[in-house]
Amino acid sequence: MRWSDWWSDWGVSDQPGRRGENGTVSADNWTTCPRCADRAQKEWDERVRAHVASYGVINANEYIEEDANIARGKPLDPETFREDYDFFFETVADEGVTVVATYSGSCRECGLGLKFQDRHLLYVNGDTRN
Ligand SMILES: [Zn+2]
Repeated sequence: MRWSDWWSDWGVSDQPGRRGENGTVSADNWTTCPRCADRAQKEWDERVRAHVASYGVINANEYIEEDANIARGKPLDPETFREDYDFFFETVADEGVTVVATYSGSCRECGLGLKFQDRHLLYVNGDTRN
C-alpha cells in the first residue's frame, strides 16, 4: 500500500509532504520491526540449538566454522519498519482549533502495520478568557 493511500483514508489533505512548516512537527523513521525481530531471535536460537546438537555428528571443520559464526553473535536486525508521524493544528469551521496527531507504521518485510489519528479540541472560537 502506498503511503498516500494510508493518509487519504482520513481526509488529511496535506500528509505527509509539508514537513517543516510553521505549527507542524513531523518525522519519518526507519526502525526494527518487532515481529521480524521476534522471528529472527527464534531462528537464531534454533540455529544455536542445532549447532550444539551437531557436535560429534557433523564434519569437524564444518562444526568449527559454524562455531566461529555463532561466536560472532546474532546479526543486527535490519530496520524494515517505517514510521511517519505528524502533529499539527487544524482549524475547524464554527468550532475552533484542534490538535491532530497522526501515526502510520508498516514493515516492508512482513506487512505488520498500524495507523491511527487522534484529534483534540484546543481552542473554541470566541473563547477569549484569560
Ligand atoms: Zn516485520
